[in-house]
Amino acid sequence: MTEQLELSLEERLRRTIRDIPDFPQPGIVFKDITPVLNDAQLLPAVIRGLADEFGRAGVEQIAGIESRGFIFAAPLALALGCGFVPIRKPGKLPFRTARVDYQLEYGTDALEVHVDAFRPGQRVLIVDDVLATGGTASAAVRLVRRLGGDVLAVAFVAELAGLRGRDKLLDVPVHSLLTYPGA
Ligand code: AMP
Repeated sequence: MTEQLELSLEERLRRTIRDIPDFPQPGIVFKDITPVLNDAQLLPAVIRGLADEFGRAGVEQIAGIESRGFIFAAPLALALGCGFVPIRKPGKLPFRTARVDYQLEYGTDALEVHVDAFRPGQRVLIVDDVLATGGTASAAVRLVRRLGGDVLAVAFVAELAGLRGRDKLLDVPVHSLLTYPGA
C-alpha cells in the first residue's frame, strides 16, 4: 500500500491495467481498465492527473467517446467545472445528429453527436480510454470541428504507441497518462 502510494500515476496504471489476450477477437491484446475503476485511490488519481494537465487550458466542454470514454470524461467535466458531451455510436442519440464515418481495418464505423452540442468556437477536450490506431479519435476530432468546436486536445488514459495512433492526430495535441512503447 505504502509502495503503491509512492509510485507515479503512470506506474500505478501500468501495474493495474490488465492485458486480456485474444479479446474481443484473436490477435488483439485488450487493455482492461476495469481494475482502475475498482480502485478507490487510483480512479480519482486518474481524474486529478487529467485535471492537472488541462485545468488551465480554458476547457468549456469535455467530449467523451462511447463508451469507456464516458467513464473518465464525466468526472473530469465535474473536476474542471465544464460541460460533458457524449460522442456516440450511430442510432443512440435522440435529437438531431451530425455523423462522421471512418475506416476500420476491415469495414467502416461511425460516430454521432447532437448538432447543438457545441457553440461556435467553444473550447473542447476529447477524452477516451485507449488510443490504438487513432481512427476513432481522429473521427471524433473531425466531428467536433464540423460543428464549430475548437478542439484543444485529445486525452487518453492509455496509448498503444506501436499502433501509431498519433499519426492520425498530427494537427491536435495528444496527451496520454500511460504509454505502452511500440514494437
Ligand atoms: P482506435 O480507433 O483503433 O484508436 O481504437 C480506439 C477505440 O477502441 C477506443 O475507444 C478503445 O476503447 C478501443 N480499443 C482499441 N484497441 C483496444 C485495446 N487493445 N484495448 C482496449 N481498448 C481498445
